[in-house]
Amino acid sequence: MTQASTETPTISTDNFICPNCGGSLKHDAHKDKFLCASCGFESEIAPPAEDVKEFSFDGYAEREAASTPFTSMSTATCQTCGNQIAFEASETAKICPMCGSTQISSTKQKAGIAPGGIIPFRVDKQDAAHKFTEWVKGLWFAPNRLKQSYQGGHLAGRFVPFWTFDADVMATYTGQGGRYRKAKDSEGNERTETDWYPTGGIVQTSYDDELICACKDASTRLDMEQVGPFDTINELRPFAPEYIAGYSAELYSVKADAAFDDLKGRKQSDLVSLASADINRRFDTSRNVHVNAMYTNVTYKHVLLPVWTSIFSYNGKSYRYVVNGATGKVHGERPYSAIKIIAAIAVALGVLFGGFALFSGGEEMPEEAAAAGIATVSVQLEPLAASSTPQL
Ligand SMILES: [Zn+2]
Ligand SMILES: [Zn+2]
Repeated sequence: MTQASTETPTISTDNFICPNCGGSLKHDAHKDKFLCASCGFESEIAPPAEDVKEFSFDGYAEREAASTPFTSMSTATCQTCGNQIAFEASETAKICPMCGSTQISSTKQKAGIAPGGIIPFRVDKQDAAHKFTEWVKGLWFAPNRLKQSYQGGHLAGRFVPFWTFDADVMATYTGQGGRYRKAKDSEGNERTETDWYPTGGIVQTSYDDELICACKDASTRLDMEQVGPFDTINELRPFAPEYIAGYSAELYSVKADAAFDDLKGRKQSDLVSLASADINRRFDTSRNVHVNAMYTNVTYKHVLLPVWTSIFSYNGKSYRYVVNGATGKVHGERPYSAIKIIAAIAVALGVLFGGFALFSGGEEMPEEAAAAGIATVSVQLEPLAASSTPQL
């Protein structure tokens, strides 16, 4: 649970500006410092004295209408998917990090709540590209032509908007508690019967920093789940635009109130489990449990989380590759080669028949034979992209 604070950025109010030479500052993923590209000045990032501010829903609409999320940045909108992104004013957006489209045009920034917290990149572009190469190498069943086609997929470092919520929950419930009883059936066999009794009660719990993606795009939401978790409790910093320099940040397309409804829906099954456990303390079993939850002390904050994504196309279909920008966890979608799979099955069947032949000869299949079979599979499949580097 984080405490409310009034001031946010720990760094200068002159966003991106080097205090030494007036050049621009950018967060360095490895050093975890703000660096000046012109003079080499390094600015230590003070650990946040206060935690990132959390808001109650009172005045949410007014707060949202009265501000823009990224005051010192330019924004552009993707003409293909409608995603609006923010980036450092001196840069231009060339590609939509969400859908890979190049149909980007600069647009006026829409009103919205500014991010309060950010998890910075700790995995830089080189790390992400290296992981990508390793990933492609490991794809046995991928078509060989993937090697060429994935080089067209650019790695984009992007911050995805999230809401986090804290809340206390009290849920009243009704349900049935069951008691087991030994009984005998008509043939005299002993069996267990359950007697059901109506019951009810109250369960309480609280949630801290529950994350809900503030981006409507289904692929992005899925990507973020696949490469999660993100540790907002320990890794979140007060927002400063220097963290975004060199990357892009998306403006949220799901409002906090809608996201909170989403959270409540997701928590419903948790509360049913809690209520069932409560019934099971008094009974042997439970069923037909219904909960009615009341959320109080709800606070939210708007945060940005880092990922590298690459969208590459193969045979007219697009595939995604994602790296968690903080932890390096990788997720990728990939095409399969039917020919390679058939070849592998054929080889595997060959091993199996070889095994049967040995077996019928009165000997067990030696481990070397299996190993040899597997070796044949790997030769047949030609590991991909052994010496390739993605073109960024
Ligand atoms: Zn400088
Ligand atoms: Zn797009």
